[in-house]
Amino acid sequence: MDLLGRALLAATDLGLVRKVFTGTRPGRALSTRFVAGETLDEAAAVARRLNAKGARVSLDYLGEHVEDRPQALGARDDYLACLDRIAADGIDANISIKLTQLGLGFDDDLAVESLHTLAARAAEAETSVTVDMEESAFTAATLDVYEKVQAERGNVGIAIQAYLHRTAADLDRILPLDGHIRLCKGAYAEPEDIAFQSGDEVDASFDRLLATLMAAKNVRPAVATHDGDRIRLARNLGSQRTGYFELQMLYGVRPTLQDQLLADDLRLRIYVPYGVAWYPYLTRRMAERPANLWFFLRAVAGRR
Ligand SMILES: Cc1cc2nc3c(=O)[nH]c(=O)nc-3n(C[C@H](O)[C@H](O)[C@H](O)COP(=O)(O)OP(=O)(O)OC[C@H]3O[C@@H](n4cnc5c(N)ncnc54)[C@H](O)[C@@H]3O)c2cc1C
Repeated sequence: MDLLGRALLAATDLGLVRKVFTGTRPGRALSTRFVAGETLDEAAAVARRLNAKGARVSLDYLGEHVEDRPQALGARDDYLACLDRIAADGIDANISIKLTQLGLGFDDDLAVESLHTLAARAAEAETSVTVDMEESAFTAATLDVYEKVQAERGNVGIAIQAYLHRTAADLDRILPLDGHIRLCKGAYAEPEDIAFQSGDEVDASFDRLLATLMAAKNVRPAVATHDGDRIRLARNLGSQRTGYFELQMLYGVRPTLQDQLLADDLRLRIYVPYGVAWYPYLTRRMAERPANLWFFLRAVAGRR
């Protein structure tokens, strides 16, 4: 992430900035570019529309860093409702969860228990659960929880971040678990002792990890990026691979490229977030591409 991205992430943490985004129409309008809506009905409608175009979906009920047991159990129940809707409507989707939404950080056992519950319900719905990777403070605990639950359930996957120095070793550790593994660059501001800082270093790390992942026969690689060069490499390595792999992109990011990949008959899963807690998600999308901020500023200026 470049300096501007880091500054943006820091600024969006301020209460006043948050109020401007969440409390104004242009702020909420910007969110609709990247977020399917605030309700499960809206998310299901978007998922069905994407399925009709040939894309698979991963539904993300937005939320992270919940602070007490009732909130964590509430998030689990919202995900259970989401899985029931996937089954009832025959949607081609799995779910993506954040462990800090299920209690990681204040009650790790609760997070393990809830991930078990979600994986069991996902199996009934003939689908799977992917564990998003959050800030580096939670990497070790996230891997521990994933290892425990996947060893028993078999339908749980995890995201790994190319910008972390530790990820090559983490990948070696999780490969034997036969899961689906989502490789992404990493979306948080991390210090240099923990993460590569330059785009070139992150890309080189991504490419090394991608080669390892694509060479592993027992896992289902998911290559999560909008970067044309990384997608090209994934397609090359994928064409030499006999097993399954898929590309993944975020809802609202490079939609024309998404359509092109579908037209090329590639397996593409689109990550579709929904829910009222969209602010932290939106700030990460802006930090990745500060030009997104112009949509917001133009909308605010247009109202004057
Ligand atoms: C399906 C999916 C799941 C993810 N899960 C996680 C996770 O669990 N943990 C995590 O840390 N990160 C996650 N990410 C985010 C990821 O780490 C990156 O921050 C994000 O994808 C941007 O990196 P990039 O690979 O697209 O490459 P970049 O080099 O950042 O972008 C390549 C090009 O894509 C376009 N682009 C990228 N981002 C945007 C944007 N926000 N708005 C508009 N255009 C954009 C631009 O044209 C840019 O030039 C996920 C990403 C995807 C696609």
